[in-house]
Amino acid sequence: MPGFEDVNYYFRKAARIMDLSAHVERMLVTPFREVKVDVSITLDNGDLGTFIGYRVQHDNSRGPMKGGLRYHPSVDMDEAQGLASLMTWKTAVVNVPFGGAKGGIAVDPALLTPREQERLTRRFVQQIHDIIGPQRDIPAPDVNTNAQVMAWIMDEYSRMHGFSPAVVTGKPVDLFGSKGREEATGRGAVMALEEHLHDAGLGEVRGKTFAVQGFGNVGSWTCRFLHERGGRVVAVSDARGGVHDPDGLDVPALLAHVRAARWIEGFTGGAPISNEALLLLDVDVLVPAALGGVITEVNAGEVRARIVLEAANAPTTPRADEMLQARGVTVLPDILVNAGGVTVSYFEWAQNIQQFTWEEERITAELGRHMREAYATLARVVRERKVPFRTAAFIVAIDRVGRATVLRGV
Ligand code: NAD
Repeated sequence: MPGFEDVNYYFRKAARIMDLSAHVERMLVTPFREVKVDVSITLDNGDLGTFIGYRVQHDNSRGPMKGGLRYHPSVDMDEAQGLASLMTWKTAVVNVPFGGAKGGIAVDPALLTPREQERLTRRFVQQIHDIIGPQRDIPAPDVNTNAQVMAWIMDEYSRMHGFSPAVVTGKPVDLFGSKGREEATGRGAVMALEEHLHDAGLGEVRGKTFAVQGFGNVGSWTCRFLHERGGRVVAVSDARGGVHDPDGLDVPALLAHVRAARWIEGFTGGAPISNEALLLLDVDVLVPAALGGVITEVNAGEVRARIVLEAANAPTTPRADEMLQARGVTVLPDILVNAGGVTVSYFEWAQNIQQFTWEEERITAELGRHMREAYATLARVVRERKVPFRTAAFIVAIDRVGRATVLRGV
């Protein structure tokens, strides 16, 4: 898994171009606060289960800190640091008034019953409730966490602090969630791609071919939007493997299959394909939408896609990023591409604070405005500075975070 140093590699590359002093660089890189807690629960069989929970708060100069909670065996301090700092830069790229945070629990939730998952989540909130809050740090869903988990967090936090729907985003629409939040990351990713295709004179999604790794929240919504726009999704995968049809998969049928069977496994509308082979398919756009660190120096030389649309966080290692760039592959970076999630989380938070709900058309229109403005700003820096999109994104983000830090005073 990619860690803190991978993110800092990209940070330093941009910082060098910007001529940042070593002192400022060190201050911007250093996390505001890091917390590691014991999350022990009684399992359904009466045994004791002990897990470790993490929350890294990276920067709050532009507002309360914001970032997902992940339930996965790979969660550790290094991963949380890296993903928390990515959130600082991401919120700055789309210009929403938040800083960055990230966390989670080192656990495989598939091995826990729903009751155990609920106890685990409530225990975690009991351990970190004094450092999160609507004006402090606002968690959201990430890998293996969903609207139900966010509902438990809201409930547990509200028991201790009074009614606080804005403590967490990605809640169910029936419980102070926002319309359009569930699909926001996939929708934003496709919006970013469309901006790029238009800007680069590459036409539209219609007729283009796509391979998508990951079929959870982000991957499945991305596939749906691509399919709706006439894109040909030729391969998708999940943790157990994938399915491939060069003529294009029947995405609605696949969605229905996964809704019923949970996994892609068993879908008969294509041939099986491994996760490794999917990344190397000859497609117009490769969409990593699962875990980080999947495009590495081992396989980057064999990636045949023309564009990599980073819907997952940190799917490309720094070395692989350099290799793709050298080979002329355009990498649209995570801190732009998947920022639709945090953008609509911002709308959810604002609605909770205002106690006023927005209609879906307004959410989609405002999301489009943020994604378009973010893309246009990055594209201008790409042209002016002759740098790749990722470096441009870090330049824009560091500039915004740096200015806020200086204006507030150290
Ligand atoms: P999810 O848990 O809903 O889905 C994850 C998907 O990845 C599942 O289909 C799972 O089977 C698959 N997967 C897991 N391990 C895999 C492996 N080893 N190989 C291939 N596939 C594997 O999670 P999500 O919310 O869709 O998040 C996916 C990515 O998007 C993560 O990197 C996350 O940080 C990022 N992200 C999510 C959001 C959001 O709003 N949910 C926002 C921004 C970024």
